[in-house]
Formats: sequence, structure tokens, C-alpha cells
Amino acid sequence: MATAAEIQEFLPGTDCGQCGLKCAEFAELLLARERAPEDCPVMHEPDYAGFIEALHELLGPAAAGMRIDPEKCNGCGICVAMCEYHLGNCAAARLGTGPRWGDRVVFRMVNGTGVVVHQEYCTRLVQAAEKCSKCAEHCPTEAIELF
Ligand code: SF4
Ligand code: SF4
Ligand code: SF4
Repeated sequence: MATAAEIQEFLPGTDCGQCGLKCAEFAELLLARERAPEDCPVMHEPDYAGFIEALHELLGPAAAGMRIDPEKCNGCGICVAMCEYHLGNCAAARLGTGPRWGDRVVFRMVNGTGVVVHQEYCTRLVQAAEKCSKCAEHCPTEAIELF
């Protein structure tokens, strides 16, 4: 599996902000499958021809995982508070104060939207697909897709 650092090598690295993020944050969201390479407008410029295809190759096909639809998410934070992994592993999320930077979490709120930052910690993915689906069940807008 590609790392965020490897992915960053194929991003413009200008932190222009047109995607609403910095390039490093965009790389994390690519890894979490919350953004697609096509979402970076700069990479559609001729200077970056072939970079989008290279990123798709680096990321590979998604196996099992999860996705939050940013169009549906209302930023309530319920997924962060309810996540089975957080309840056992993140005291700040469990207490409802929100995880701190550096805490190991599946979800984090970024600019008022829930994003999947480390799906590899998800109990459902680590153990078995049927073990947990609490986040999707409690999301009030059906923004979370588990697959
Ligand atoms: S739009 Fe592209 S170049 Fe600009 S910050 Fe986002 S990822 Fe980086
Ligand atoms: S529970 Fe659903 S609507 Fe609320 S932050 Fe999470 S994904 Fe967004
Ligand atoms: S499926 Fe369960 S463990 Fe995985 S992110 Fe959702 S609530 Fe957390």
C-alpha cells in the first residue's frame, strides 16, 4: 500500500489551496479515498500530464473500506464520537471533546466535515466485515458508505 509521502511526490507541492487543503492533507485524503486525483485542479494543467494516471496506479483499486460523501456530511461529529475503535482507543473522542492531532483515529473533522483518515484502524476492516457498522448506522445523513 502506498504511503502519504509517496503520494505527495506526485502532487504539485505548491499548497495553492484550490482544493481547500494543503498538498499534504490532500495526500492523506487520497490515501483514505476521500478525494480523487482529479480533485486537484492544478494537475489538469499540461505541466502535470500523466500525474493523475500515475496516482491512480500508485493508489491501486480499493478493496474493502469506507467513504464519507462530503456533499451529504453535515459535520455533526457523531461518527467520531460513536466509532467503536475510538471508544476503546481514543479518550478524547470517547469524552466528546474530539481527538487531538496525533491521536490514532479512523475519523476526524476537517474544516467542518467528517473525513476518514485511517481506515486501517477500523474494527470492521481489521476483524471482520460484519463486526461493526455503528458509524454508518448512526450517521444522520447517510453520508458514510461501508463497502
Ligand atoms: S489543489 Fe492540488 S496543488 Fe493545490 S493544494 Fe490542493 S493538492 Fe496541492
Ligand atoms: S456522522 Fe455523518 S454527518 Fe455526522 S460528521 Fe460523521 S459523516 Fe458527517
Ligand atoms: S465500522 Fe465501526 S470501527 Fe469502523 S469506523 Fe465505523 S464505527 Fe468505527
